[in-house]
Amino acid sequence: MEISHILESLNPAQREAVTAPLGPLRVLAGAGSGKTRVLAQRIAWLLAVENASPWSILAVTFTNKAAAEMRGRIEALLDIPIRKLWIGTFHGIAHRLLRLHWQEAKLPQGFQILDADDQQRLVKRMIRDLNLDDKKWPPPQATWFINARKDEGLHPHQIHAQDDPAQRQLLRIYQSYQEHCERTGLVDFGELLLRSYELLRDDPTLLRHYRERFLHVLVDEFQDTNTIQYNWVRLLTGGQGDVFIVGDDDQSIYGWRGARIENIHRFSEDFPGARTVRLEQNYRSTGAILEAANAVIANNLERLGKTLWTEDSAGDPIAVYAAFNEYDEARFVMERIRHWLEQGGKRSEVGILYRSNAQSRVLEETLLGARIPYRVYGGLRFFERAEIKDALAYLRLLANRDDDPSFERAVNMPPRGIGERTLESLRILARESKLSLWRAAQGVIGSGHIAARAGLALHGFLTLIDTLERDTKELSLPALVDEVLKRSGLLDLYGKEKSDKGEMRVENLQELVNAAATPAAAPVAQADEEEPMNELAAFLAHAALEAGEGQASAWEDCVQLMTLHSAKGLEFPMVFIVGVEEGLFPHQQSMREPKRLEEERRLAYVGITRARRQLFLSHAEKRRLHGREIYPKPSRFLAEIPVKLTRDVRTRTTVHFTQPRRPGSVESEAGVALYPGQRVRHRSFGEGIVQTVEGQGAHARVQVRFAKAGAKWLILSYANLEPI
Ligand code: ATP
Ligand code: MG
Repeated sequence: MEISHILESLNPAQREAVTAPLGPLRVLAGAGSGKTRVLAQRIAWLLAVENASPWSILAVTFTNKAAAEMRGRIEALLDIPIRKLWIGTFHGIAHRLLRLHWQEAKLPQGFQILDADDQQRLVKRMIRDLNLDDKKWPPPQATWFINARKDEGLHPHQIHAQDDPAQRQLLRIYQSYQEHCERTGLVDFGELLLRSYELLRDDPTLLRHYRERFLHVLVDEFQDTNTIQYNWVRLLTGGQGDVFIVGDDDQSIYGWRGARIENIHRFSEDFPGARTVRLEQNYRSTGAILEAANAVIANNLERLGKTLWTEDSAGDPIAVYAAFNEYDEARFVMERIRHWLEQGGKRSEVGILYRSNAQSRVLEETLLGARIPYRVYGGLRFFERAEIKDALAYLRLLANRDDDPSFERAVNMPPRGIGERTLESLRILARESKLSLWRAAQGVIGSGHIAARAGLALHGFLTLIDTLERDTKELSLPALVDEVLKRSGLLDLYGKEKSDKGEMRVENLQELVNAAATPAAAPVAQADEEEPMNELAAFLAHAALEAGEGQASAWEDCVQLMTLHSAKGLEFPMVFIVGVEEGLFPHQQSMREPKRLEEERRLAYVGITRARRQLFLSHAEKRRLHGREIYPKPSRFLAEIPVKLTRDVRTRTTVHFTQPRRPGSVESEAGVALYPGQRVRHRSFGEGIVQTVEGQGAHARVQVRFAKAGAKWLILSYANLEPI
């Protein structure tokens, strides 16, 4: 029964992949062809037919959300809980390994994850400690250097000092940063991967154990693995065995973060005997959407090349909207969503995608004004909010006193009279005696090194943390969080802020108590009998690893806003891609380098193929971006879509007048109503057709497509248009 269950609704190629004999296998296929689905069914197949133990399966997904969905899907298929199966992101799995084997990995038991924000702050401190000017050595660049080396698998001692003085300096920063992290038990995202790789590489017994255990390794979105992830998979599997990877070289979009598209090509060489299955039928999109995606990606030269077809009809043409500016664009999006909702569509079926985070603000404003609930996916996530990070700093200090970034954050928050001068003395002392700030503070109290008042305040802080730990030993996690919020003074501090913001912060802090009550939301943090991770540690790991994929409520019935990058793997019946303009998409910085331009084009392919039924592409004639007014050209990607697949659209604006008029009309100078579709004459531009009308009175504007002069936006009161 289960077998037919697993195989039904799979096409022959998909079935071939799901039922393939054990051994290395690569599924190489375009967007929406069922790769992720096949990977989930394969796991079900292994369990139900190959009699694999859940214990022997390791599955890697690109996001925690995908991991949770996959787990749910397999459980539904087999109707059994599969707790022992390891499924998570590379980072989540690496973290789990390090937790289990902290000693072998030479980490303190309570090691903490350093998120991107704290990492950069720490790098900045290291730059200053080295007496370097952080204008000349900007922390973001140094952080980038460090992360890039880690992604390649290199710790400082493995990098040869180069002749280039700048490289040598960056290496010094990396060195002192790394030493600091080692000393204080902090592990950044790159280190999670690198450490867990080294853990297996340097410990033959452990490696043998895991090779014997994980007989089935499956990886989704393989085209976006970086060097260390690839090497980790190779090491763990020994380049053989049942390794099942799926990917699409046309969707590799993280090259700028170290992903290596060639990994998916190399697979067949590094895993001898590997089979390749290609899926060619797309189940997601209409014919027009698929053809547009195929046409765009065909402009890339470096491809393996695939064909992708659908049984679906052509469907609606792809709608292209030329907006006046970003507000007009947002209004257009909003109107179309309204229309969708009027027709019975759901909000959660709508995805709005953009290239750059900064684009979301105007869209948000407009949706807010229209009272359409929305959610920004991957925006400033809950755990990154200032007040939440304040509270987490206390919790992290409870778990690990040597966590310097948390010490710095908590020590004078709320203000306790521990100023920058005191902190600076602490930093110097910590550096000179190679101690954490906490230990330095212990030593400095009463030593005369700092002012008596500051010493007293510092003493108060250390006592607060120590007594908090002592008094909360027996408490459940939510009760502990609650206690920390109260006794730290954070609740009082924000409660006193008599503004909406203060109120929101208090609510967020209370939400943290709720979050702590939800058993380890991240699948990787799930404790099971082999892994007695303490509750607080599991919660803190979750806070650091949860990649902005939102809480459970994120997928309530809301319109979804996100960058094109975070849309990978998802699908929506209705998709808007906004700002399809040269300089924005493709991005300014990628336009001149062919390789980067190809990555932008793959991003366009990813974006287009998220749409199931309806796709809207918009560009603005004028846009304010990063504080500048620009007049961008429509993107080259638009021109790459065959004209026959597209349709120019106008807004459905209804301009309201005190006197009833034809809907969508606006009054011209001569007192004549203009409406979309109206023929008009202009003194210099000649004859044309009104496309869009908006605003009223002195602000009324019309867009007219002139036979000779093309489309123009005109202010009605100046244009002297004559209806004909
Ligand atoms: P992406 O490259 O975007 O990650 P994918 O190849 O992983 O896409 P899936 O997300 O697995 O594709 O599948 C795309 C859609 O097609 C899903 O809604 C899935 O349920 C559906 N689908 C896949 N295979 C079939 C099939 N054989 N019959 C019906 N629907 C299918
Ligand atoms: Mg997928």
